[in-house]
Amino acid sequence: MAVITVAALVLSACLPNDPAEVIEPMAPYEPQAICEPAPKPGTVALADLIRSRWPGTWTSISRACDVGGRSEHKDGRAIDVGGVSAFNSTRARADSILRWLFAADADGHRFANARRLGVMYLVWDRQIWVANEADRGWQPYPCSGVTRCHQDHIHISLSQAGAAKQTSYWTGRTGHPPGLTVAWLDGRAGTLTFPLTLQPGHRYRLTAHGAFISGGAGAGVRPLADATARRPRPTGGAPVGPG
Ligand SMILES: [Zn+2]
Repeated sequence: MAVITVAALVLSACLPNDPAEVIEPMAPYEPQAICEPAPKPGTVALADLIRSRWPGTWTSISRACDVGGRSEHKDGRAIDVGGVSAFNSTRARADSILRWLFAADADGHRFANARRLGVMYLVWDRQIWVANEADRGWQPYPCSGVTRCHQDHIHISLSQAGAAKQTSYWTGRTGHPPGLTVAWLDGRAGTLTFPLTLQPGHRYRLTAHGAFISGGAGAGVRPLADATARRPRPTGGAPVGPG
């Protein structure tokens, strides 16, 4: 039995889930594990949005299972955005797309559109940005050649939720079941007990499953059918092999 103290987990039922107040955390790292290249709906929607909003760009999603190494392209979860170059005036398009993904929203949530779309990592011009390492900013991306160094396209990988079009950019709500709001609030604290072994040195993301049993505002935390803590990937090491 492990106990973790959380900086205020509030579960409440039947409250409006206002995306202005509740926004997804940075997407977890969920690398390609199976090969299922058909484009996922959230991937298609983001690709369509980018081509529409930034004329002159083109997009590519799927990659055959027998081509190259691990890549979310093989899972229908990655977009290559072309029509941008690190070496000419079309760089402004890339800069504009990245500014749009990273801008804070009106409530000061950093990387708001990236979070609300489920952007898992980006590669552009010899650098990689990993959502769950966002505090490290852009990191060096070892490579050679214009294409492998992503100087002629931006690579965007999406989380499973983003690819499934289940993130708040598309749904208008954060990805929790209707009637259940999960929010992290500053300045309050609580304790959760899990029948799990949690390892020190890792950050955990709480995922709640099941129905809220009863109670309304002020009723506090009620039993859930199931509650689990999932371990994102350990710190260190960059995602491998997006193309
Ligand atoms: Zn790519």
